[in-house]
Parts: sequence; C-alpha cells; structure tokens
Amino acid sequence: FNVPTPINEPVKGYAPGSPERIELLKTLKELKQVERDIPMYIGGQQVRTGSTQRISPPHDHQHTLGHFHEGDASHVHQAIEAALAARTQWAELPWEHRASIFLKAAELLAGPYRARMNAATMLGQSKNAFQAEIDAACELIDFFRFNAYFMQEIYRQQPESMPGMWNRLEQRPLEGFVFALTPFNFTSIAGNLPTSVAMMGNTVVWKPAYTQIYSAQVLMELFQEAGVPDGVINLIYVDGPVAGDIIFSHPDFAGIHFTGSTGVFQNIWKTIGQNIHQYRSYPRIVGETGGKDFILAHHSAHPRQVATAITRGAFEFQGQKCSAASRAYIPSNIWDEVKGYLQADLKSIKMGDVEDFSNFVNAVISEVSFDKLARYIDAAKQDESVEIIAGGGHDKSKGYFIEPTVIVTKDPKYVTMCDELFGPVITIYVYDSQEFEKILDVVDGTSPYALTGAIFSQDRYAIDLASKKLVHAAGNFYINDKPTGAVVGQQPFGGARASGTNDKAGSMLNLLRWVSPRAIKETF
Ligand code: NAD
Repeated sequence: FNVPTPINEPVKGYAPGSPERIELLKTLKELKQVERDIPMYIGGQQVRTGSTQRISPPHDHQHTLGHFHEGDASHVHQAIEAALAARTQWAELPWEHRASIFLKAAELLAGPYRARMNAATMLGQSKNAFQAEIDAACELIDFFRFNAYFMQEIYRQQPESMPGMWNRLEQRPLEGFVFALTPFNFTSIAGNLPTSVAMMGNTVVWKPAYTQIYSAQVLMELFQEAGVPDGVINLIYVDGPVAGDIIFSHPDFAGIHFTGSTGVFQNIWKTIGQNIHQYRSYPRIVGETGGKDFILAHHSAHPRQVATAITRGAFEFQGQKCSAASRAYIPSNIWDEVKGYLQADLKSIKMGDVEDFSNFVNAVISEVSFDKLARYIDAAKQDESVEIIAGGGHDKSKGYFIEPTVIVTKDPKYVTMCDELFGPVITIYVYDSQEFEKILDVVDGTSPYALTGAIFSQDRYAIDLASKKLVHAAGNFYINDKPTGAVVGQQPFGGARASGTNDKAGSMLNLLRWVSPRAIKETF
C-alpha cells in the first residue's frame, strides 16, 4: 500500500457559462431558500439544545441562512467524554485505514461536495467564488492528500537495527484528547485543524468560530460521509471561555491545535501554564496567530508589479487573510507611478454581494469587525498627518461593507502601520529611495508579528540583503510576489514571533506534533 503521490487540486475558473459556475449558482440559490437548523455533533449524534442563534450572510445581514444550537458547559463535558471513549479503537486502527478515510474526504470534496462547500463559504463568510474555490475546495483537498502522504512518511521512518538487535519507533497518538480551536477566515483551516490531529490517531473536540458555523456543518457532514467514526471529531458551539475553562483544566487534555488571534492564544498559553500540574503529559501547544504583513519595494522594482501585489495582497477576501499585506514601504523614485496604478486599480474593482461574480470585494465578517475598521478609518480621516488616497468609505445598512482603503503616512510607526486591523486597509510609508538599508531595520522593528512579507526588486544584491536582514521578520518570505496564497506542499505556511509556533500547516513538521514516539529495542 502506497499513499498516492499528491498533486495540488487544479483550481476551477468559474468562467461565465462554465458547468462549475452553473452548478455553483444553483447551489447558492438552493441554500438560500432553506433555513438550516444546525446541530452540534457529539459522539456522532446530532445535538439540539433549543438555545439557537441566527446565522446571516455578512453582505446581507437581514437574510437568515439558518440557526445553530448553542451548547453550554455540559456539552463540553459530553464532547470530552465522547472523544475519550472513541480513543482506543481509533488509535489502534492501522494508519492505512485512517489515511483512506481522508483520501476519500478529498475525493468527495473534489466531486459531490465541492459546490456546497464553496457556496456555504461564500454565503456564511462572504467570500467570492474564486476565493472560496482556492480555500474551501482546493486548499482543503490538498491538506487531506498531502497530510495522508506525509503521515505515511512518518510511520515508515525507522531507526537502524544491528545484528542481534531490532530497533523500532512506534508513533503513538497523544494520551488524551486534543482541542481544535478554529478561526472564521478559512474553511480549509477549520477543516484541517481537527483532521490533521485525527489522522495521527487522536480524537478531537472541535470548536469553530461562531462566524464560520454555516460551512463548519458542511465540513462535519463531509467527515461523516468519508467514514470518520463516531466520537473521533466532536463539533461543539460553545462560548470560547466556557469551553476553555473546562478543557484546559481536564487531566486528559493532551494538546491544542489553534489558529486565531495572538491575544487569545497568549491567554490560552498562560492558562495551560497555570494548570500544568493537572495534566498527565505536557500538552502540545500549536498555534498560528496574527500578522502585520509587509510589502517592501526596492528602487529597482517594477511599479506595475508592486501595485498589483498591493491590490491583490491587501484586498482579496477584504484583507481578512492572516497573510494579507497591511503595511507597505515604497521608495520615492517609483511612488508616483505605483500610486497612479493603485488608484486606477481600486477605481475599477467592484464591491458587493457574492452572487455577482464580478465583485472583487465583499463584506467583512461581522458588525464587530466593521465597527473596529470604521473607527480606524475615521480616525485617519481626522488626522492631518496622514492622507487617504483611495477608499475610506463604509456602509453597514445592508451588509458590512468597507471600501478598500489606502492610507499614506509620513510616520513609519503610525498606528495602522503597527496594529493588526484584519480588513481591507493598507498603510503605505514612502521612503527615500537611497535609504534602502535603513528601511530594512524599520520593517523588521515595527511589528511584533512575523508571518509573511514580500520584497520587490530587480537587484540581486538588494534581494540578498533583504533576505538576510529580515531573516526573522516572516515565516513565509516572497521575492517578487504578493505575500498571500501559500499552496500546500509548495510553501509550508506559518510564522514565528507573535505570529505563532511556526509548525507549518500541511507539513510533516505539523503532523509530528500530534504523535508521541516510543522507541523499542529488542535483543535476540
Ligand atoms: P479569534 O482569535 O477571535 O478566534 C479564534 C477561535 O478562538 C474562535 O473559535 C473563537 O471563538 C475562539 N476564542 C476567542 N476567544 C476565546 C477565549 N477567550 N477562549 C477560548 N476560545 C476563544 O480569531 P478570528 O477572528 O476567528 O480569526 C482571525 C485571526 O486569526 C487573525 O488574528 C488572523 O491573523 C489569525 N489567523 C492566523 C493564521 C495563521 O496561519 N497565522 C491563519 C488564519 C487566521
């Protein structure tokens, strides 16, 4: 048995009149016609509490997509019990069977589930078809296929043996249950965090962001249809701190697979530290967190290339990618040209709902996010030291719409150069083209984050210098490309400093965190 050598799932184009566009439009219509009643899933059973919350599309907040059943502390306990009850049988299942389940999930998602997963992501998280396709379909399919392949590599790696002696390495799952705590912005991350842990033989309690529950339910149906046994992945909708209180004080808590904001992760780490004496083992703590990702242009850069990188890197999916460019450093010699292209690009792109495929920008995820972004933009409008050269508008009457906004500042430490806003706002600092070396120190020292960053230059010495001086400034570093769009199996993804533990999602490194090896020596 060999896991098929994975190849990246081809991205569908959704051209007008294409079969995939016709099917997607039909699925969107069907989903919008029926209000879904969304249960939790504990031990394979659907759990309805009667305490429901409404789900609506961020671009059309008066429309109701459905209601989800919210749980309380008792459901957290039930989910932990279900995970622990399923543990032994799942851990003892030969790994080839676990691989098969997730390879089947990949095929289901590439085929019959594709349109529904994309449509649910478009409606629930306000992603346009192209952004949904690269996330909810392609990236998640890639995670399943590549993880199954890396898993095989891990199980096959064995130490040397000698005559009269046999050395073995047994990759045991962790002793206990793992908590998967997932963010709103990528359906693929919500799908990958619980499944990568489960693949390695662990059972999981999974709590998604409330703003991603609409597509989380489709993920759960996919897992069940692919054959994930009852109790292996338990999906609960419980307030984060309520769930955290119970999970982080449980003796069988064995690890957390987290993606979300830095503040939440730091608090979780502190809590785990305070409770360390209560656990059977040191829990595995894996977290991918915030970013303040940069684009840096050298005076030799092509202005057209830089402007495109800003438009796509900062504004696709409304800047709500952890990798989105949110600060840029442009040399004075090319600034006028970059500015001209950027203003023309932003004038031509359209904003609106997800069913009109010509909309490049859709709504931000929630009213909380909208209000935060509007506050920063309005403060910039009042501030005479900065200039807004594009966008600046916002309107939440129908959906949470923030215009793609470009702020230009003379202060490289201006607040929007430093804070993670997580929306369609980029701040640009124009530097003296002769001061490239100096600007490298500014880029490195401005932000506590280190997730992604891009250098644009036609000068090899400048590229080399930037690459050396910014060695710790980004876990994913791009040369002459925008800082978003990492592909599984090609650019393993993750950052250090305040951006996470850098256990590269979709790589062998990440999967190794979910096993605890036992070395066995036998003599004859
Ligand atoms: P978030 O931190 O608000 O939420 C993440 C998860 O934690 C959600 O399930 C949420 O309900 C839960 N949570 C929130 N507060 C909690 C608490 N006190 N106790 C327990 N659980 C709690 O993040 P988000 O808004 O969903 O996602 C956006 C953030 O995620 C951004 O900061 C972004 O940079 C980051 N992100 C990072 C990566 C990466 O790979 N580094 C990828 C995607 C997103």
